[in-house]
Amino acid sequence: MKKILVLPGDGIGVEVADQTIRVIDHLNTKNNLNIEYEKELVGGASYDVHGEALTPAVLEKAKEADAILLGAVGGSKWDNVERDKRPEAGLLGLRKELELFANLRPAIVFDALLSASSLKEEIVKGLDIVIVRELTGGVYFGQPRGIEEYEPGKQKALDTQIYFDYEIDRIARVAFDLAKKRNNKVTSVEKANVMETGVLWRQVVKKTHEDYSDITLENMLADNCAMQLVRNPKQFDVLVTDNLFGDLLSDCAAMLTGSLGMLPSASLGAEIDGKRNGLFEPVHGSAPDIAGENKANPIATILSFAMMLRYNLNQQDLAKNLEDVIQKVLNEGFRTADLYSSDDQTLVSCSKMGDLILERL
Ligand code: NAD
Repeated sequence: MKKILVLPGDGIGVEVADQTIRVIDHLNTKNNLNIEYEKELVGGASYDVHGEALTPAVLEKAKEADAILLGAVGGSKWDNVERDKRPEAGLLGLRKELELFANLRPAIVFDALLSASSLKEEIVKGLDIVIVRELTGGVYFGQPRGIEEYEPGKQKALDTQIYFDYEIDRIARVAFDLAKKRNNKVTSVEKANVMETGVLWRQVVKKTHEDYSDITLENMLADNCAMQLVRNPKQFDVLVTDNLFGDLLSDCAAMLTGSLGMLPSASLGAEIDGKRNGLFEPVHGSAPDIAGENKANPIATILSFAMMLRYNLNQQDLAKNLEDVIQKVLNEGFRTADLYSSDDQTLVSCSKMGDLILERL
């Protein structure tokens, strides 16, 4: 028995989480998946009831759960709420308290959506890569930082790029473990030619690789990687990189696939007593412009659940089956409004997309 905490959040988060729960119910019944889930409030929905975006009770449940499925948080309704109580604070609180240091963003191009990519079809057809980004270290958090006056009337700004060996080792392990479940190749990305953190990154990854002799390791400079991602992205399997480079490269890779409504993600924590914290969520936000209209694309969230099946619940076959079913529904021409582009396609609502996926499962 596995326990999942479902946090639908705000706006379309609620709608896309509902469709994913239907998938969980279906797999529980048809495939004896044996997942128990509980729904709780987070974000603006939690603020409205409890006056805070993440209550201690929900945080406790999140820590106890085997995995967390999140919809999305946020909306203009809470724009004037104090910063530490805003919807986004709920999400940041979860990431911090669960020490989710590894962010996984797959970029998968479904055949039916080839034309949605900004690149030529032959470059992205069949693309299936994952970017593993270090999420809690590096230049976004390094101290000292600040803007100060160095002469009267003149200012300087300082950020510190800092990585500890253990931070590099643990993110490298996530990437190697992931590659084992995929195509056995890891590309480690840094700027060892000009940055000390890059030199240490490369050394530590090389050392960690000694425990993974069956995985091929390749090192690549971040600027070259940006070029390779748009020149020949299919050369990659798993890319592992720091917080800053990962931020840029994962957004770049996302555009290879075309649509925000299709992008899943996972954030993983350290493995403690055989259990690894994991938060699975779509990349998109709460889309206030279409919230409540049953127009949202639920696929990014359902694919996030597929990642949970694959990476946290050890159900690779079910994950693959779910991804294949989504591929099939798209191949048959069904599209939510964000993907709809021509008359030969069938425009469907969020819940109808859920129906179609369930029927084919
Ligand atoms: P957004 O991702 O919510 O929406 C951007 C555009 O994409 C909108 O036009 C929206 O309708 C469309 N879109 C997004 N997801 C879609 C889906 N599944 N199906 C169909 N269309 C979809 O980004 P935004 O408008 O910049 O932000 C809205 C709110 O969401 C803000 O409050 C922001 O802070 C929050 N946000 C939350 C998260 C999160 O919870 N992880 C991430 C990003 C933004």
